[in-house]
Order: sequence, then structure tokens, then C-alpha cells
Amino acid sequence: MAMKILVVGGGGREHAIVRALARNPDTEIFSVMAKKNPGIAALARGFRLCRETDISRIIAYARETGAGYAFIGPEAPLEAGVVDQLEDMDISCVGPTQAAARIETDKAFCRDMMELHNIDGCPKYRVFHDRSEAIAFILDNEGDLAIKPIGLTGGKGVRIMGEQVDRAGAVAYVKSLAGGVVLEERLVGEEFTLQAFVDGSHIIPLPLVQDHKRAFEGDLGPNTGGMGSYSMPDHQLPFVSGADYKKALVIMKATVAALERTGHPYKGILYGQFMNTSAGPKVIEFNARFGDPEAMNVLSLLSSDLSDIVVRIHEGSLSVTNVTFEQNATVCKYIVPSGYPDAPHPGDPVALPPPTEGALVYYANVEEEQGRLSTLTSRTLAFVGIGPTLEDAERIAEQSASAVTGNVRYRRDIGTRALLERRMRHMKELR
Ligand code: AMP
Repeated sequence: MAMKILVVGGGGREHAIVRALARNPDTEIFSVMAKKNPGIAALARGFRLCRETDISRIIAYARETGAGYAFIGPEAPLEAGVVDQLEDMDISCVGPTQAAARIETDKAFCRDMMELHNIDGCPKYRVFHDRSEAIAFILDNEGDLAIKPIGLTGGKGVRIMGEQVDRAGAVAYVKSLAGGVVLEERLVGEEFTLQAFVDGSHIIPLPLVQDHKRAFEGDLGPNTGGMGSYSMPDHQLPFVSGADYKKALVIMKATVAALERTGHPYKGILYGQFMNTSAGPKVIEFNARFGDPEAMNVLSLLSSDLSDIVVRIHEGSLSVTNVTFEQNATVCKYIVPSGYPDAPHPGDPVALPPPTEGALVYYANVEEEQGRLSTLTSRTLAFVGIGPTLEDAERIAEQSASAVTGNVRYRRDIGTRALLERRMRHMKELR
């Protein structure tokens, strides 16, 4: 039977969600996005342009289209409570309620929940609502800290002592913040992402991915929304041991169980960002939705029907299904406007190469007029290379990315053997 689903969000992540849904010819997709994403527009039955947090317009469009399901891509509408309101209208959502989404939208809530429920992998932390107390703590504390505003910051609000700021810089940063702050021990290790489908109590893990937050090659420069990511054909990462993986999975399951116990069952995508340290995986943060770019890696490999998974998340029947992924590697490279993230230059024309075999293009923040593309101020578009080895996937992604012309750039090093070996060496040194 035809299923109508409303996808909220218009970035690369949502293009990946829409493309995966569109593989089922019986699924009718409708989209709400702030800016027309040409990739989504081409696959959707219809779309509405409006702010992703404009709940009344999202609800109105859901009514108009007769959607029975909704898939929420970004965090802002989750924080605004879009799921609570859609579910009040009997529209089943992939995405947690406002209360369950606090796992991402309130960093103090997340840490306190981990501590209260004795969930493994929680770094030492303190929550401060008073700036002068936070500053006193920074001045007294010997080691390096991670400084995190409590609320959402688009992935760009964290400052790490010893990396981006010294002690004085940390104090100045806390002074510049309006709200509360979480100070936590600086974790040293290698980061990885574990995402999962969650139906309230059962979780299905997706292939491991490593993202690259820093703007420039060699992991230099400011943090961005993510410049690209890769995954391996065995869906693991060579610097994450079997024991590390199991531990990370236990942490994810314990988190879902804790939310269920507290009366806020979690339905949707749970994203765990981990730091693999000398003492095993620690939680950097949870997100209440797919990562962008990581969604593009895993959804490009998904061989099961995403529409069926959507129904199962709603029914709570993930435990009785088998979700499969192609045994391939993926490499995702984001093309970004020159000057991104600090001073991105919008309005520059971008020309794409003819499609490369094995490569997928995902549109993100890009303007299309009469078939011509130009940059806006955020990440423009991404290429995902897919192949039997990391080298194959990287070559394919690189071939596409390097052939783009315009006032744009990307990170050549993402998905290269050299970078992977550096990560493996780093992990070995730590252990
Ligand atoms: P977040 O916004 O929480 O994803 O943090 C952005 C980046 O800051 C992460 O990708 C990590 O590289 C880094 N980070 C966050 N928390 C910590 C921590 N406790 N120790 C070291 N690095 C961290």
C-alpha cells in the first residue's frame, strides 16, 4: 500500500533520507525545507518552503498532503516539539519527542542522565549556571577541559582547552556565553560515530563512520558542520576493537533503556559520537537524529527498505526484522564555499562534472536556477564514493570532487589510507 511520508529538512542528510525512501516505488514523499534542495525536489511528490521550526506550517502541510508518517532530519524542529504535535494528529514520527530529544538539546540533561543511570562512558563533568563559578572552576582545575554551552549551537559551540583555547581563552569564552555551560574533562583519542534505528526499546546499529569536523586538511582550522566521512566494507573501523564496539553498543542500549524507564521512550535515530580513549569509548555527545555527513555514508549502503523501517520504528517491531547494508566502503567529501565556515562566500557559480560510476551526489545548501548551481553560505553539496575497498571509494569520491569548478573547496585527505593509518598509529600509541 502506498505510504505518504513528510520529510522535514533540506540539507545533504535529508537528501540521503529522501533518496533511501524513494527506492520504494510505493512511497510518496513530501518535503518541508527552508530552501529548495534540488535533489529533494526532484524526488518528492511535493514540497513546501518554510522555516524548519515553523510547526504550524509543517502541521498544515502534513494535513494537506495526508501524510501518515514524518521523518525529522535536523535537531531544531525536534527541540521545537514538532514530533509531539505531529503525533497528536496521529502522524507517526521518526524522531524523538521534545522531552526525549533533550539528550541532544540539553547537554546538562544528557550528562546527568548518564550519571543517574550509571551509564558507562560518561566523562567527568560539572554543570554551571553561574558564569563566575564556571570561571573559578577553570582557573582551579589542573587538566584541560571541554567547554560546552548547554543548548544547541549547530555543532560549533564547543571549545577544547589545549586545542583551540588556552586557560585564558577558555575564561574569555565562558564570559562571552549567555546561558549555562558544561565543563568536562578533555578526552584524548580517536572519534567515531555509531548511529542506530531505535523503536522505543530495541536498537539496530548502523555501520560505524568517522567524520571530520575541522575545516582543513590534516585536521586543522575551525570546527565545521563536518567536511566529510568514511566507512569500511566490514562496517567497523580499524582503530575500534571488537571490545570497544561492544562497549559503545551497550552504552547506546543503556541510554535507550534509561529514556524508556523515565517515561520518555526514544523513537528515531540515535547518534552516538564516541571518543575511543586509552580506557575505551567515552561519549562525546548524543544527537537525536542522523549525523550530516554520516547519514550519507550509511543510507547509501542501506539495502533494506527504509519505508519498512519507518513503519517498524512506529510499531516498535525492529526486533523482528533484519536490516542489511551493502558490504562496501564509502567516502563522503563535502564541497564548501570558499571562506567556509568563518566567512563563506555566497553566490558563486558551481559546475558539476558528469557523474562518475559508483558516485552519488547529495545536494545541501545550494541555489539552483535554470539548471545552474551557485553557493550559499553553508556546505554546498557532497559526493559519496562507494566501492569494495576504502581506496576504491576514496578514488571515486575524489574524482568527482576534484572535477567541480567554482570558488569552492573540499578536503582531499578524507578517506585516504594515509589518514586512516595516522588514526591507527594514534590509537596504538594511546594503548
Ligand atoms: P560536539 O558539538 O559535542 O560534537 O563537539 C564538537 C567537537 O568537540 C567534537 O567533535 C570533539 O572533537 C570535540 N569534543 C567535544 N567534547 C570533547 C571532550 N570532552 N574532549 C575532547 N574533545 C571533545
